[in-house]
Amino acid sequence: MIINTLYTLGYKGVPFQLLKVAAQTVNVLVVDTRYKANSPAPQWRSGYMAKELGGHYLHLPALGNVNYKNGGDVLIADPDAGVLVVVQALRERSVILLCACENVETCHRLVVAKLVQAAETCDIKHLSKVDLETWTTPVQPFDVLPNMDLTQRALVEGVPEKVVKPKQIRLF
Ligand SMILES: [Zn+2]
Repeated sequence: MIINTLYTLGYKGVPFQLLKVAAQTVNVLVVDTRYKANSPAPQWRSGYMAKELGGHYLHLPALGNVNYKNGGDVLIADPDAGVLVVVQALRERSVILLCACENVETCHRLVVAKLVQAAETCDIKHLSKVDLETWTTPVQPFDVLPNMDLTQRALVEGVPEKVVKPKQIRLF
């Protein structure tokens, strides 16, 4: 059982910059599962992605769908070799299986995710753009919570209330 999560993402409609910041913030490995990592959009070409994402990016054509262009059944290029790489990566950190397709149900990344899960028990979560936005939004500090007095803050933050010493009374 691996405690890191196997994510999948179709990048259509997702800004590259959002994926980049999310990958860095959460420290995930983006595994590009496209057979050919080409795109009319330059930011989704493997050369550019490798440069921008650095150690957060790995193009793994072994997990590509050989039939991606001809509409034939999903045929993973080299499932054994590819799955092994992903399982090893998952021992270190969470992984995003990346493809272009918006709909995961008809994308080969669903097949790949299930192959990985069959090899090593792990949780699978299919990401959306909204999920990535959540990853990159910092948690609001308590300081911005409005109208909260010190006692409430102490309860929320676990900080002990300031102890107010009673005024000394002089006895004559
Ligand atoms: Zn796809």
